Amino acid sequence: MKVPLLDIKAHLAPIRPAIDAAIARVIDHGTFILGPEVTELEVALARYCQAPYAVGCASGTDAILLALMALGVGPGDRVIVPPFTFFATASCVTRLGAIPVFADIDPGTFLISPAAIERYLERCSAAERATVKAIIPVHLFGQCADMDAILEISRDRNIPVIEDAAQSIGATYRGRAAGSMAEIGCFSFFPSKNLGGLGDGGLMTVRDRGLSQRLSILRVHGMEPKYFHGEVGINSRLDTIQAAVLLAMLPYLESWTAARRAKADRYRDLFGDVRGLKLPVETGFGRHVYNQFTIRLPNRDQVKAALQLRGIGCEVYYPVPLHLQECFAQLGYREGDMPEAEAAARECLSIPVYPELTEEQQRAVVNAIVELLPAETS
Ligand SMILES: *Cc1c(COP(=O)(O)O)cnc(C)c1O
Repeated sequence: MKVPLLDIKAHLAPIRPAIDAAIARVIDHGTFILGPEVTELEVALARYCQAPYAVGCASGTDAILLALMALGVGPGDRVIVPPFTFFATASCVTRLGAIPVFADIDPGTFLISPAAIERYLERCSAAERATVKAIIPVHLFGQCADMDAILEISRDRNIPVIEDAAQSIGATYRGRAAGSMAEIGCFSFFPSKNLGGLGDGGLMTVRDRGLSQRLSILRVHGMEPKYFHGEVGINSRLDTIQAAVLLAMLPYLESWTAARRAKADRYRDLFGDVRGLKLPVETGFGRHVYNQFTIRLPNRDQVKAALQLRGIGCEVYYPVPLHLQECFAQLGYREGDMPEAEAAARECLSIPVYPELTEEQQRAVVNAIVELLPAETS
């Protein structure tokens, strides 16, 4: 039985009339740049994410870039990030001439370890510590990082925090929503995210009114009023058409999240306590929204190849931890510097967990994996 990693067509089919109507309305009114749907979506998502303000932009990557710009991060500054995340978390730092500093992850949850952040800040020189201008915890795979511990470091050392919530819209941490806990939260509407649009899109949730105004100006070339530029911004708007599509999808997000969580529960039932395989660990601090269901296997590469041969979709998020990426070689990290991220990169495998996945498909995935585990442990 074939099981895709993601089934966008099945996902869109039931809401296709609403999407078509939303797009038609935008074509009719014709305000394609920063039209009314953009503001409408910003208001709706600010509310959904328990944040006072939200500002749309062109992608999750730009959300992180704009957030760093708004906090004044620039050449020579340092920003603490996890090494086990999508590339954009760190590349936005280098695009501003700043230096990403990696803090290793917790091996169970794949989330940045507050203890590793603290260890770095304790051990670096006072001069270096003075250059640390932000911490970006990533709410990876749909689950919030340990924000209380990270916010305590933030308060003690006066370092602002940006939440990379690209994979975690709707996740919670001790009753608070992803994106609402720090200065700025960054979201992505890339099609594979939990609220995925029909192309690129992003959004920042913001606590402070002044900061939200600054972000709104930075996304239009730093322009305010028209053709007057107080600072140099970028061109990064959320398209009106994309905002209209996302507004049409938003009423379904909670049921999609519930479905993803039900698929995760079913995987746990079906796998049981099969040895030789580690299931994803929940922190217990809040709602995991399962953008990915990521298992760990000793023979990961072999299992991945065999699953793909059988038409079972799976993917390695992420095969190379960021501190070992070729483009970051000048940062001077070596293999062994981030042992937990490196082990996760060797062993992790994400399997299908989308809302439309059927029980039959899940059984096929589980049976195939269990068959492929090393003989002595299965
Ligand atoms: C997807 C993603 C991004 C970037 O979002 P885009 O919209 O693709 O630019 C950033 N961080 C994480 C953790 C992501 O998963």
